[in-house]
Amino acid sequence: MSPLEQPVCFICEKRCEANSVGGEFDVVCSLCGKYRISRIAFNKPKYFNGDRHFMMCAIRKMSAEGKHISFHEGLENELRSLVFPPQNPIESIDLILKFVAGNTGPGRVVDIDLSKDFPLFFAVDACELDFHVKNAKELGYLSGHDDMSASCTIALTLKGWQRLDEIKRYSRDSKRGFVAMWFDASMDAAWEQGVKPALEKTGFIPVRIDAKEHNNKICDEIVAEIRKSGLLIADFTGHRNGVYFEVGLAMGLGIPVVWTCRAGDIEKAHFDTRQYNHIVWENPEDLKEKLVNRIDATILT
Ligand SMILES: [Zn+2]
Repeated sequence: MSPLEQPVCFICEKRCEANSVGGEFDVVCSLCGKYRISRIAFNKPKYFNGDRHFMMCAIRKMSAEGKHISFHEGLENELRSLVFPPQNPIESIDLILKFVAGNTGPGRVVDIDLSKDFPLFFAVDACELDFHVKNAKELGYLSGHDDMSASCTIALTLKGWQRLDEIKRYSRDSKRGFVAMWFDASMDAAWEQGVKPALEKTGFIPVRIDAKEHNNKICDEIVAEIRKSGLLIADFTGHRNGVYFEVGLAMGLGIPVVWTCRAGDIEKAHFDTRQYNHIVWENPEDLKEKLVNRIDATILT
């Protein structure tokens, strides 16, 4: 390993540390975290044509979790199926609370360096992170951070721990994809060759609970699984009551739903739900392809 003189991070173009390892570099960037990259790519940061801010935040988050990131073509797409940036200031605050909880315990403090740690929270800069921390404090979730210094020492209040408990019940970044469908032998291929591989391809863990084992009752296990899911696939072929119930539950919890139905069965869809944009499929392969496209276009963007 040999250090490089004045290297520049391929992702954020700020000064970083880089050590040569064979034909590659191990990069340590105060904003992007750690990643490995080929020598050829590293020497041409201006040729990076991805979303620099997303990549900076996603790589920082992954490296903070101890994951080894090797930069390659297609990495951005892979990360987009694994890392979900907050969509509004409330979700940014939730992310800060999760970080504090993950790095400390009740009554303990954690230090955040606003100028270096803003990518961990998908903020555009230190100012935005400062805004979220102050709002979290105003809401009573955090204590500390009284001055305007670059580094802040914060702790979760009891109200902050309560808020965490609430958000744990439904995690937007959950990779679990719950599948609500008719449990009939005629649907086995749709599951095996359609829904299951489509979820796996888009980075979700397929979760299906066989309702037959539960005498068709909506059991606590199903409710608990749906609460933990980041996505629900609902197939209306056969028009089972349980599927309608599970969709209603997911929608009430704010979990995205993808509606699907086999051609020939869509005409029997309940009047109240007919306006939803169902994927109408002909065979398992068709279902898989359309599901992957729909998840890519609507859930992972
Ligand atoms: Zn960087």
